[in-house]
Amino acid sequence: MAVFGWIGLGNMGGSMSANLAKAGHDVRGFDLNPAALAAAEAGGVKPAGSIAEAVAGADAVFTMLPKGEHAKAVYLGGDGVLAHADTRTLLIDSSTIDIAAAKELHDAAAAAGFRFVDAPVSGGMSGAKAGTLTFMVGGEADAVADASRFIEPMAANIIPTGGATTGQAAKICNNLMLLINLASTAEGAVLADRLGLDKKVFWDIASVSSGDSWALRTWYPVPGVVPTAASNNGFAPTFTAELANKDIGLAISAAEDTGTPLEIGRHVQQLYQRLIDAGDAGKDCSMIIKLADGSLDA
Ligand code: NAD
Repeated sequence: MAVFGWIGLGNMGGSMSANLAKAGHDVRGFDLNPAALAAAEAGGVKPAGSIAEAVAGADAVFTMLPKGEHAKAVYLGGDGVLAHADTRTLLIDSSTIDIAAAKELHDAAAAAGFRFVDAPVSGGMSGAKAGTLTFMVGGEADAVADASRFIEPMAANIIPTGGATTGQAAKICNNLMLLINLASTAEGAVLADRLGLDKKVFWDIASVSSGDSWALRTWYPVPGVVPTAASNNGFAPTFTAELANKDIGLAISAAEDTGTPLEIGRHVQQLYQRLIDAGDAGKDCSMIIKLADGSLDA
């Protein structure tokens, strides 16, 4: 049995930490949101009253936070992880954050005597619940190997990506593709409906044809087709439009740093931005179908 501190018990962190607890580990969780803390407790996580309490005596600390600014506050703040953890504790950030923030965390952790890896994930809330996420892990080889052992109960795939921040680089490129796929899936689904095709018949075809994608199989934006989709549930968030827009923005800024045109990504970012401007930042990003069918602007 290992001892884990876990900071950030939201849509992803709640289920991921529960899988560590289910595997027999001692998991102490902290979140600013009391409802998230209570839900995690129901999943077997011991609630902590502060970051200091969550990280005390931990073999590893996981963080699963919305953005770079939150990860920096949690690691570098006066009441944060670096100030309170023991340097033998391995630090594993699974949030999706910008490469500059990830570099800052790697550098600050190393300067304070810690081992740190960036270990973002793919697989959505359904993968988090099922313990079948893909982890992409960047950092020093020995830290990546040790982190992989701790990650195992949450993952179907654990892929070392190379040195510091390469996990985030992989994740940013992956999510650029995901969010473009989701937008294209929404357009195909709307057009299929207007051409008179049954929604399940069209999905059955596309899912075994060249229009297939993870977005189609997991987040199909038409209700009543795919059980894991937020469309069945009034677009209650599994991955918010705000976080989707954050991720595509990370790709755009990485493209600017590398002189990459990213014409399609830039266009699709404007679509997610329109969801946010319409007041739907907290809804699931698959609500992009409301742009595809014209009902958002109606
Ligand atoms: P979420 O908003 O549901 O959860 C984030 C949690 O962090 C919230 O409960 C919030 O209260 C907590 N938090 C924020 N600041 C904090 C602080 N200072 N101290 C303690 N807790 C704090 O987000 P999520 O969907 O779970 O995503 C988390 C990260 O994982 C994001 O970077 C996201 O991009 C990434 N991600 C999400 C998905 C998905 O499908 N939802 C999939 C892969 C990766």
